[in-house]
Amino acid sequence: MAVKKKEKGQLIVLSGPSGVGKSTVIAELLGQRDNIYFSVSYTTRKPRVGEQDGVNYNFVTRAEFERMIADDELLEYAEYVDNYYGTSLKAIRERLDAGIDVLLDIEVQGAAKVKKRCPDALFIFIIPPSFEELSRRLHKRNTDSEDVIAGRLEKARVEFREVPNYDYLVINDKVSGAVHEIESILTAAECRVENRKQILTQFN
Ligand code: 5GP
Repeated sequence: MAVKKKEKGQLIVLSGPSGVGKSTVIAELLGQRDNIYFSVSYTTRKPRVGEQDGVNYNFVTRAEFERMIADDELLEYAEYVDNYYGTSLKAIRERLDAGIDVLLDIEVQGAAKVKKRCPDALFIFIIPPSFEELSRRLHKRNTDSEDVIAGRLEKARVEFREVPNYDYLVINDKVSGAVHEIESILTAAECRVENRKQILTQFN
């Protein structure tokens, strides 16, 4: 567990179309930054090759997911290309209260729900350099059928319309560039006066 640095952690919401390279960017970011926890979502989707239960996602049945909804255990959830995805409220609340930043990788419907419940969160949207590049990346991943890829591309077009609801737009042309942009956003947020009140008190 990371060292406690501040009173309350920053909630960070990162959205972007499937295939934009969010997982790679996130892995790189987590490797570079201390005091940040990646919220492992719950999903009813089947694991892709190389994905590990409890690391990439908590893979659960539809019945289990519906029980979590009924028991109000989720901060938000959404149905995305025929599967449920959701964020455990308990897991993130514990970290934020311990002064640890929490990063959510969630799609736009879920992000809109978080914005209502947690307006102080940072909302970052990540896009590819072009739509053609997104299609190329989804095909290169070689994990989904043509039908699923078509569904994801269609979904991406709808998601792009939600960008104005976000605070920041990051372009993932090169992973290092995208990580640098996100690092800069997080550092700027940390320097906000309201986040440094504790330090200020000694100057009174
Ligand atoms: P994938 O199947 O490619 O891993 O993810 C599909 C989409 O679901 C991505 O846009 C991802 O950000 C989103 N997603 C992952 N976890 C969650 C979650 O907990 N809640 C919501 N609303 N979306 C999620």
